[in-house]
Amino acid sequence: MDFSKLARPNIRSLKPYEAKEIPCKVKLDANESPYCIDITPDKKVLQRLNRYPDPETKELKKAISKTLKVNSDNILLGNGSDELIYYLIITFGGPVLYPVPTFSMYGIISQALGEKNIGIPLNKDFDLDIDKMLATIKKCNPKLIFLSSPNNPTGNCFSAESILKIIEASKGIVVVDEAYQPFSSEKGFLPLLKDYKNLAILRTLSKIGFASLRVGFLIADEGLINEVNKVRLPFNLNSVSQAMALEAFKNKDVIESQIKNITSERERLFEELSKINNVSPYPSEANFILFKTKNADIVFQKLIKNGVLVRNLSSAVKDSLRVTVGTPEENNFFIKALRKSIGGKA
Ligand code: PMP
Repeated sequence: MDFSKLARPNIRSLKPYEAKEIPCKVKLDANESPYCIDITPDKKVLQRLNRYPDPETKELKKAISKTLKVNSDNILLGNGSDELIYYLIITFGGPVLYPVPTFSMYGIISQALGEKNIGIPLNKDFDLDIDKMLATIKKCNPKLIFLSSPNNPTGNCFSAESILKIIEASKGIVVVDEAYQPFSSEKGFLPLLKDYKNLAILRTLSKIGFASLRVGFLIADEGLINEVNKVRLPFNLNSVSQAMALEAFKNKDVIESQIKNITSERERLFEELSKINNVSPYPSEANFILFKTKNADIVFQKLIKNGVLVRNLSSAVKDSLRVTVGTPEENNFFIKALRKSIGGKA
C-alpha cells in the first residue's frame, strides 16, 4: 500500500526535520549544552508514576514566574518550544511569515498544518530585510511572524529597531523566539511584553543543559495564552520533566556560570576558526558558530571520519557548517579535526 498517496497532499511533499544521530566521539551538531547538571527529582514524583501529571504545571510556572519576573497567567509550558510553535500555528493559522534561513520548524509545521508560509531572505549581513518584511506584512497580513533572535543557524541577533517596526506594523502576532537569548549580550524582548499585546516570546531549557527534558515556555498576554491553551493536549508535560525542571531552576548559579564558560569559549573558537585558511566564521550571539568553508559537504564528511559531528547547513547558506560550542577539550579536538579535514587526508 502506498501510504504517501493516502496522506494529505501537503504531507506528501513535506520533508521531515532532519536530526540524524551519527555516532561520533564529539557531538557538536544540535546546539545542546556540553555540560550535564547532576540533578534528581523529588522522590515523591517517582512514587506517583501511576498518576497523571499536573495538567497546569503550576509549580513550574511559579518558578519561571519568579525567575523571569512575569505573572504565571502569562506563561504556557510546552513539550519543548517546538510543541508551542505547533500550538501557535494551530491556534492562529496562517499566513505564517519568517525570514530565511531560520529555524526550519516554522516552515515544516506551517506546511504540515496546510497553512500558507512565506520566507523572506535575510539581507547580506543576515539581518532582517525590513523593507521586504514590512511590504509583505502590508500585502499578506500574516497571522503569525516568527523571528528567532539570536537566529538559528546564522547566530546573530536581528536589529531590535527592525523587530520593533515589525511588531508595530503587524496586526497579527509576532513571536520572538529567544531559544538562544541566554548566550546573547542583548537583553531580549521580555521587558517589552507590557507595551505590546501582539508580542509573544519563546524560551527553552534545551540550550542551557536540559534538552532531554523537553521543556519550553511561551510568555505572552494572558488573552493570547488562553487561546493557545485551548489546543494544548492534556498533560503535555510529563511529571518527571516537570519535577526535573523545578530542580533545574534551583541551579541558576551553576547554569549561569556554564553559560559564561560557553560564551567565552565561543569567542575563543571564533578566533581559532578565523586563523584557518579558507574558513570564515560568522559572529555569533548564540551557543554555536556558522562558518563558511570550501567544499563544505566534503569537509562535513571528513569531520565525521575525524570524530566530530557538526551540522551541514549548505542547503540553507552556501558552503557552510554549523558547530555548537563544546567544552574547551571538545573545541580543541574539533579545531584539530577541522584542520585535518581541510588540509587533505582524513
Ligand atoms: N527555536 C529555535 C530557534 C531552535 O533553534 C530550537 C532548537 N533547535 C527550538 C526553538 C526548539 O527547541 P526545543 O528543544 O525547546 O523544542
